[in-house]
Amino acid sequence: MKMTIDMPFVETCTISDCAYNKDDKCHARAITIGDGIHPGCDTSFLGSPSHTRANSLAGVGACKVSGCSYNNDLECSADSITVSMKNDSIQCMTYQEA
Ligand code: SF4
Repeated sequence: MKMTIDMPFVETCTISDCAYNKDDKCHARAITIGDGIHPGCDTSFLGSPSHTRANSLAGVGACKVSGCSYNNDLECSADSITVSMKNDSIQCMTYQEA
């Protein structure tokens, strides 16, 4: 049985050495953002010699950054997000302080 879930999608991710990344797109089924305060990617799997064969785009399954204006009951309400490196960590660049 499969479920269809409406999630914001990860429009781009520039972390090319993550196993889920191909051509600046994230192909994990869903990612988790945040550690409660910082909007870091909680799913990145870095330094892998192989990359996923999946072609579907990742969704944002959960976000633990309640201080973001897009966060609604620990879910992201943006249409899409982008992920990139900022201050030496992998972060949601769509984050907006509430
Ligand atoms: S935009 Fe905000 S709520 Fe959505 S994933 Fe990024 S930090 Fe979380």
